[in-house]
Parts: sequence; structure tokens; C-alpha cells
Amino acid sequence: MLGPPGSGKTMLAKRIGTILPTLTPGESIETTRIYSVLGRLEAGQPLMARRPFRSPHHTISEAGLVGGGSTPVPGEISMAHNGVLFLDELPEFNRRTLEVLRQPLEDRVVTISRAMASTTFPADMMLVAALNPCPCGYRGDPRRDCHCNPPQIERYMAKISGPLLDRIDIHIEVPAARYADLASRQAGTSSEQMRQEVDAARQIQRRRFSRARVNYNGQMSSRQIRQFCPLDGAGTELLKMSVNEMGLSARAHDKVLRVARTIADLAGSESIASEHLSEAINYRHLDRQMWT
Ligand SMILES: [Zn+2]
Repeated sequence: MLGPPGSGKTMLAKRIGTILPTLTPGESIETTRIYSVLGRLEAGQPLMARRPFRSPHHTISEAGLVGGGSTPVPGEISMAHNGVLFLDELPEFNRRTLEVLRQPLEDRVVTISRAMASTTFPADMMLVAALNPCPCGYRGDPRRDCHCNPPQIERYMAKISGPLLDRIDIHIEVPAARYADLASRQAGTSSEQMRQEVDAARQIQRRRFSRARVNYNGQMSSRQIRQFCPLDGAGTELLKMSVNEMGLSARAHDKVLRVARTIADLAGSESIASEHLSEAINYRHLDRQMWT
């Protein structure tokens, strides 16, 4: 999420858990086990009932984030297992620390190797990150003037590596006015309604993958994407054009299709229509390097 301070990025991140399906007993046991290993279970709480939300500070060490130590202990990415890991002010994190996220984001587990043995911890979390649009934070904000120059903005954005951005499915802009708009609007969609829509989309995916080894659109392999995400002529053309114009990587290309499939599922649509595909392409915002 890219937006100025006060636009509601943290609030949005904190609420993601409220629209995700309720923890299954299996997920609850997995997550509880991690907290148990760390001695972090609250008194009188035998099982975790809610999806975890972890929000480590940007000064966190590599070991703190992914796990480590001479006797390896799980880090924040494992404490966020089956929940949300929120990294606020992403460019402020140590770049090396962020780089170590790449492997667990792909594998959904983290392996800590030591001379004698290696330990693997679960790390299947949703990574949510927030950043300001420039060093001062107010670029594009009608309420405040921004005097950051293009090289400063470029240096700031360059602190996040391309390969990490490439592994993030959805890039969105959260403009300054948005929060006030949302707060004043009378009838929005409640978290409970959204959770029901998410549940309905998950049902469709369970049926889709009843004979496959995956559960969700997000886990589809390239081969499965070709099988389950066919596009019509116009869609194929649109995607080809976007790949060329935005310089999308092969990974980003696949992500667009997985996200488009999910948007279509949320809309209850059997096929991926142009509007679903365009929306998914719009979420590759940062691939376009809008800041330059
Ligand atoms: Zn600025």
C-alpha cells in the first residue's frame, strides 16, 4: 500500500484478518504450536482462536524476522503463520533483512540451516507492506506540500528491491482523501459481508481444485494457470500489451492471472472478463515505476 501518512494504511492492514475465513481447527493447532515453542501463549489460552497479526518494527534483525539463533527459534514470519505480517514503512527496513523474505514467500516455510542440522518452520502468511510515496510522505497529497525532488524519490523507492516487489501480488495506492471518504459514507460493506464474499470465493476454488494438489488460486502453478485461467482474444491481447509496456516479469504475469481469477471468483463469474483482467493489471502499479 502506497500512500501518505494518515491515509489509513495501518487501519486497513489490521482489518484484513476480519475478512479472512475463520481459522480452521488444523490451522489453529499449527499456529498455536509456534507460540507454544516460543512460550508466548497467553495464560488460559489453550488454542489460538484468531488469525495472528504481527507488525514488527523496522529495526528488527534478520533473525527476529525470519527466525534464527544457535538453537533455531521461529521469527515474526512464523508467528504470523496463517495470519498477516504487516511491515509498515517498508523502505526503512534493512534491505538485507527484507531480502531473506524472498525464499519463505515462495516456499511458505522457512528453513534455518546450522552446521549440525537445519530446522524448518511454517511461514504461510499474508505479507502486507506500507510505504509513503516519497521521503516526506506527502507527494500527491492535496493537504500538504511536498518538496522532494525526483532523485530523492527514486533513492527512497530504490530501497525496496525489485525481486521483493515482484513477489507481492497487489500494489495499491491509498490516497489521502480516501479515509475521510470512507468514514463519511453511510453504508459501506461490513467486514462480515466481505468475509462471506471471501468464503464464497473459497468455495468456488475448493470445487475448482478438488482434484488438484492446491487449495487456492494463489497456489496455482504456471501449468494450472494455463488450465484454469483461459482468456478470450481481447484478454490475451490486453495482457500481452501490458507485459510489454510495463515490463512485467514472468512471475508478475502469472500473478496477474491468479489475481484476475480471484476477482472473477469474487464476482461469481465463470470466465475471466476484461474488467477482471484490467483490475488485476492495475494492481501491478509499482512495476510501472510511477515515481520516476
Ligand atoms: Zn515528499
